[in-house]
Amino acid sequence: MQSFEFRNAGHSSLNTLHAQRETWCFPELPLSALPSFDLGGCRVRVISGGGLKLDGGAMFGIIPKALWSRKTPSDEQNRITLACNCLLVEFDGAAGRRVVIETGHGQKFDAKESRIYEIDPANWLLPSLHAIDVEPTTISDVIVTHLHFDHAGGLTMNGGAGNATPTFPRATVHVQRHEFDDARKNFGIMHATYREENFAPIDAADRWRLLEGEGPILPGIEALRTPGHTRGHQSILIRGRDRVLLFAGDVIPTRAHAGPPYNMAYDLFPLDNRDSKRRVLQMLHERNGVLLLGHEPQTPALRVEQDGEWWRLEPGE
Ligand SMILES: [Zn+2]
Repeated sequence: MQSFEFRNAGHSSLNTLHAQRETWCFPELPLSALPSFDLGGCRVRVISGGGLKLDGGAMFGIIPKALWSRKTPSDEQNRITLACNCLLVEFDGAAGRRVVIETGHGQKFDAKESRIYEIDPANWLLPSLHAIDVEPTTISDVIVTHLHFDHAGGLTMNGGAGNATPTFPRATVHVQRHEFDDARKNFGIMHATYREENFAPIDAADRWRLLEGEGPILPGIEALRTPGHTRGHQSILIRGRDRVLLFAGDVIPTRAHAGPPYNMAYDLFPLDNRDSKRRVLQMLHERNGVLLLGHEPQTPALRVEQDGEWWRLEPGE
């Protein structure tokens, strides 16, 4: 098991609360419209890991509905629509290496849970990969930002007789050791988001690789330690020859969460999440990188533009 040194991300203070004023609402993107990128010697494709609905109030924490509802429509139960965006990363010349980042919610839900979250168990990462002729046995590595069910649920699948098996039987699964330890202790404020059925089959197949903080995960792919949503949360930086792309995970779930106070009620440490958010936005702005958002249903790929003391997100690369 490989490991690498932990470096502190650094913290600074922010005094300005920022509220975005513009209004935008678009229909959900069809599968075929999910973008792909050539970063230079590295191809990144956005793949659907399904979608779900969560309470709008919980998704926007302290932000009043009068503000968040300008950008994010809610249904009659006050739920908002979220995508579970995943990535397929392939490097030129890296023989046999095919990397999946994030796995979405998977398909292990009973009728009650499917109804509560409005999850379609038939719409998850594996059928999305099959739709582009990618076989799960060809995936060499899977990287997850953290182990909540809507990110790690696709790691395993129903294998018959109620037993879950790894979805990607030949893949090494990379996650921060801190997140792994917290998940196995069910550390958090949500009682049912860390699920053993998503972990035990990976234990049995001995496919975990536990990361110790920041640094390279694979050639061209780095871990950024971005705590706040969970203590062991990581964001994933992909370095092409020409550009970088960052998969932020739950640091910034949707475009509407760009502002400093736009935390989720699910975030365990909101101030730490704000620091993580500042760090990734500043870095991407300086490097002209692509920001890829995990739960954004409309415009998952965004540019980071300076906006006073903070940044705003604009659709496109
Ligand atoms: Zn989460």
